[in-house]
Amino acid sequence: MKVLEEGTSLKNWTVKVQCKGNFAVGGCNALLEANMNDIRRDYYNRNDEEFFVICPICKQQITIPHNKIPAVIRDHIRDRRPIEKEHEM
Ligand SMILES: [Zn+2]
Repeated sequence: MKVLEEGTSLKNWTVKVQCKGNFAVGGCNALLEANMNDIRRDYYNRNDEEFFVICPICKQQITIPHNKIPAVIRDHIRDRRPIEKEHEM
């Protein structure tokens, strides 16, 4: 069997984000690589949640569009279960 493309790996998944800041404050333009544990979630209501990281350099909040985060990753961020201990709970 030849593996053409692996599915989304929870541990190895990363996303590149550029620090653009938010509407109020500009970012520092750093290029960052975030993994699942770096991403935080803000929740307003059922249909309005936001995923973001905090820039380690300028401390601005950087929003990550939903379409840049695979659904399986979003689920884990919502639940925030440590992957290794998932089956012990
Ligand atoms: Zn920054």
